[in-house]
Amino acid sequence: MTGSRRNFIKTSLMSGAALQLGVMASDQAQAASGVKYRKIAVEESFMLPEVNQAFMKFAQSDAGLRAGFPYMEKYYKDLLPVWGQRGIDMGAGRIQQMDENGIDMQVMSMSGGALSEMEPETATSLARLVNDRLAEAVAANPDRFAGLASLAPQNPAGAVKELERAVNSLGMKGAIITSHVQGEYMDDKKFWDIFATAEALDVPIYLHPTLPSPQILQPYLDYGLVGPMAGFNAETSIHALRLIMCGLFDQFPKLQMVLGHCGEGIPFFLSRIDRAATNTAAHREPLLKRLPSEYFLDNFVITTSGLNDPRVVEFCITMLGAENVLFAIDYPYESMAPDATALDDMNLPPATMEAIFSGNSERVFKLAAKG
Ligand code: MN
Repeated sequence: MTGSRRNFIKTSLMSGAALQLGVMASDQAQAASGVKYRKIAVEESFMLPEVNQAFMKFAQSDAGLRAGFPYMEKYYKDLLPVWGQRGIDMGAGRIQQMDENGIDMQVMSMSGGALSEMEPETATSLARLVNDRLAEAVAANPDRFAGLASLAPQNPAGAVKELERAVNSLGMKGAIITSHVQGEYMDDKKFWDIFATAEALDVPIYLHPTLPSPQILQPYLDYGLVGPMAGFNAETSIHALRLIMCGLFDQFPKLQMVLGHCGEGIPFFLSRIDRAATNTAAHREPLLKRLPSEYFLDNFVITTSGLNDPRVVEFCITMLGAENVLFAIDYPYESMAPDATALDDMNLPPATMEAIFSGNSERVFKLAAKG
């Protein structure tokens, strides 16, 4: 994103606030006259029976136990069948839900199934299957769906090849990676060809939560903390910060990352992160060209998946600018109702609402704008 665009949008936002009375009056008039923005939800998941089967086998193995998956089963056993049933539908039933809740489009990806955890060969061939099946679902309803490719980063060369195939041959709009790769983080340079490829293809990578890595898992295993309550955002935020602090974005300045769940807590800590980075600069490597927050603003966008609380979303807009905030639900793990309409009453100008619900997604994922 260019500075001028960023400044332009920020200025529009601020004038929205400064001229609140006049602007909001005209907003309300527009809303009343039926001006409507498209709603695109961008962290919407599906599941393939084949992946589910392979994953269940993994989850019940010793490696699955060490990775903590039985704890997800323990705490979420009532919801797992619901998620599975909804997730498997990549067509009519899903579209009916979208119609009933005013969702125009989903950017679909497979966030469950943790391909990153499996044997490299199994995961690589499952990723191909997932992407082929997703491409079919998108082709059947191109106005309603777009897709993000699944990858098996534990086979970096295979992941590069699959990312290229998925974008160039299958029309995928980016890729999704479920955080740590069997306890390894992608600041490790053996993974960097994947980022180089994403930057060269000009597609974003969505860094999606999974359970905390084995090194930090233990304290999250009690009290149901392991998933969305604490473990997911602890895992994903540390991964994102490792990517920032390792110099990845000095190497790949155009690389675009996406974080769900309102940035996994990072927006709240940005100024503290900057201060600590400044205080420790003499004693760590590598030296970064910029402050952490600057990479976060330029190389990341966040989505509202699983956190459609207007107070939090408004805070994120204040911290990051409206151009960096994208609407998402996190279906099927969250329900479309009430999340599809939870942000409708935010006190923001129509242009800002339009950006959050569709304009930003069209830009980041290169979706065709609907005329
Ligand atoms: Mn998700």
